[in-house]
Amino acid sequence: MRVAFVGPPGVGKGTQAQRLAERRGVVKISTGDVLREAVRQGTPLGVRAKSFMDAGSLVPNELVIGMLEERLKADDTRQGYLLDGFPRTIAQAEALGTMLEARGEALDRVIAFEADPEVIVDRLSGRRGCPRCGKVYHLRFDPSNAGTRCEACGAELVQRDDDREATVRRRLAVYQEETAPLLTYYRKRGLLARIDGSAPIDDVAARLDEVLSVPRPV
Ligand code: AMP
Repeated sequence: MRVAFVGPPGVGKGTQAQRLAERRGVVKISTGDVLREAVRQGTPLGVRAKSFMDAGSLVPNELVIGMLEERLKADDTRQGYLLDGFPRTIAQAEALGTMLEARGEALDRVIAFEADPEVIVDRLSGRRGCPRCGKVYHLRFDPSNAGTRCEACGAELVQRDDDREATVRRRLAVYQEETAPLLTYYRKRGLLARIDGSAPIDDVAARLDEVLSVPRPV
């Protein structure tokens, strides 16, 4: 299975990617996670990426494309992969096409997750995460039983810098401008399937399995 997830921030791509990768036993590659880890470790890539991420902008194509190319070289991508948050621009989609062609591979599907922008602002501005174990909560929809601490490991929960409301709105605008054109790009190539990301998590997962069970038109 070789699939890419596209959608605005907060639409539930990451959650679904995590679950689908577990169900299918394929690796999930989230460029956002790889970038956050680079920032945390203070690598040269992380240092260059940080200001773009904090502002809610996209990290420049050449940095992200190079990073993905490196990541795809690992052995764990042989059984397939699920790309979460890549590509995000037409230039990235084209670079991905070239990379896959060189590997003798192609995407099976591109899944576009959709949701109303106000639902997204609500979801993201209430999101809190554990800096130690990575567990994610929501102040209203999925609060921690341990209050402001992680119920799994006890660390104090934090808000991602880019989850503040003003930054979320900026990320949504960036999505509309730079990423939404990918929907037409992949629709024309017969790869696009659209999914309502505002439905409950299990319903979205079921719909995703349904979409992926249909062979793509050639
Ligand atoms: P995410 O966790 O997918 O929402 O990504 C968080 C941030 O990382 C984004 O707002 C961008 O600044 C950056 N980022 C992640 N993936 C990409 C990508 N494919 N292209 C450019 N920037 C990216």
